[in-house]
Amino acid sequence: MSADPSVSGEVAGRLVVGHFIHGQIASAPGARCAPVFNPALGRPVREVALASAAEVEAAVRSAKSAQPAWARTPALQRARVLFRFKELLGEQRELLARTVSEEHGKTVADADGEIARGMEVVEFACGAPQLLKGEFSEGVGTGVDTYGVRQPLGIAAGITPFNFPVMVPMWMFPLALACGNAFILKPSERDPSASLLLAQLLKRAGLPDGLFSVVQGDKAAVDAILQHPGIAAVSFVGSTPIAQYIQSQAVLHGKRVQALGGAKNHAVVMPDADLDAATEAVVGAAYGSAGERCMAISVVVAVGQATADGLIARLQKRVATLKVGAPDAAGTDMGPLVTAEARARVLAYVESGLQEGAKLCLDGRGLKVAERQSGFFVGPFLFDHVRADMKIYREEIFGPVLSVVRVADYAAALRLVNTHELANGTAVFTQSGAVARAFAREVEVGMVGINVPIPVPMAFHSFGGWRRSLFGDHHIYGNEGVRFYTRLKTVTERWPENAAVRADFSMPTMK
Ligand code: NAD
Repeated sequence: MSADPSVSGEVAGRLVVGHFIHGQIASAPGARCAPVFNPALGRPVREVALASAAEVEAAVRSAKSAQPAWARTPALQRARVLFRFKELLGEQRELLARTVSEEHGKTVADADGEIARGMEVVEFACGAPQLLKGEFSEGVGTGVDTYGVRQPLGIAAGITPFNFPVMVPMWMFPLALACGNAFILKPSERDPSASLLLAQLLKRAGLPDGLFSVVQGDKAAVDAILQHPGIAAVSFVGSTPIAQYIQSQAVLHGKRVQALGGAKNHAVVMPDADLDAATEAVVGAAYGSAGERCMAISVVVAVGQATADGLIARLQKRVATLKVGAPDAAGTDMGPLVTAEARARVLAYVESGLQEGAKLCLDGRGLKVAERQSGFFVGPFLFDHVRADMKIYREEIFGPVLSVVRVADYAAALRLVNTHELANGTAVFTQSGAVARAFAREVEVGMVGINVPIPVPMAFHSFGGWRRSLFGDHHIYGNEGVRFYTRLKTVTERWPENAAVRADFSMPTMK
């Protein structure tokens, strides 16, 4: 299994994933590079170029040359490019999924799922003519009409995390392009190859050169994007500290910004819940993708001792059956973590949970996968009797570690969810409509599931958390995405039949 060789080129005898600028893959010999690992093998398989401000400048120059004509292109024609892009994505789905799986470590089936969710945003963006229709008021005054149109911002940039190298960029660029903008993507340096496949497919779909660029890199590339006066808006998805940094810097440099951060998603399990169904839902949501999902359930809030005991017994039994192994092998539930550092971080959290007195019911340490001995694997972990003051409760672990917190009643569960500083997603498991309705109204979290463990909104709604899970005003994709990538212009017009209009020095009012 290896990524499409066409996306990584030979640079001075090394295999390097380059940038994509003005329709060409490019990487300068002698430039800084970082290794790209296959996490299941635990060794580097290629390198990725790390951009300097010069590459960002080249991408902006190229975008500037192409964007005005794209903004004038009828929305229906822009949408046709996206229709074709979506067809090509369908044709290349397996290659994309294998590329993601190889560099990320998630199973191929899981990678295919993220591609499907990304394609749904492309489908939504294909509705550009409808989405950009604007509004019109006839006769706001005598002989005066007003209309509002949403126009593109110019050049938008996206900075994305390692955990969804296809889906998260596709939360951004299909809508940015559909709205008439150029887009510059700075993917994660951990799994950069998929971005070049996407760029090539957009080009094949007929997108003119310059409208979609990929600048690979790290903080240097990000800072060059944040500081560039030619970039009007930045979408970011990643960890909370970096999201906060991105927002503050983007605002400082006069940009529109949406910065989505980390998560600690609680599933509240009520005493009346179907515990078998809740267990299945929680296991998938906690351990899928080895817990490296911003919508993963990482805390179960069990209401009542009997609920907690019943859940722990079921979870222990079910989680012990999970198959951890090579991400491209049939039947694997959970692949490796993305890097050796990520694995070390998870193990340090487990150690801290033990030191702070949580009860470790399932221990994933020391797991070895045959023929993948050097891979960055850990097994699933389950902690019981976790308290709100413990580090494993307060902080995002981003690994296959599930904490169970026991509370006495619904009010205590709600208080817990509403006081955690991260508020991306949450879910409640119950058979009571009254409890479900109260939870949906009272919980202070951006995305809520009622007997749905991973309530990722569909492409025609919008995705985003509250509190320190999102910095900025707009959620991502859906109608919020259209608003983010456009600015409103309101035109008030009069076409007088006889031109005898006299100067009026008072505030215009409806007369
Ligand atoms: P990360 O914050 O380390 O990196 C995200 C992006 O920021 C990458 O492109 C990276 O190159 C860049 N970056 C990293 N350090 C930087 C720095 N010091 N200055 C400027 N740029 C920097 O996140 P990650 O480890 O790639 O992804 C995992 C995190 O993303 C988790 O916290 C997860 O919850 C979060 N996430 C959130 C959502 C959401 O929708 N809220 C979705 C996916 C992932």
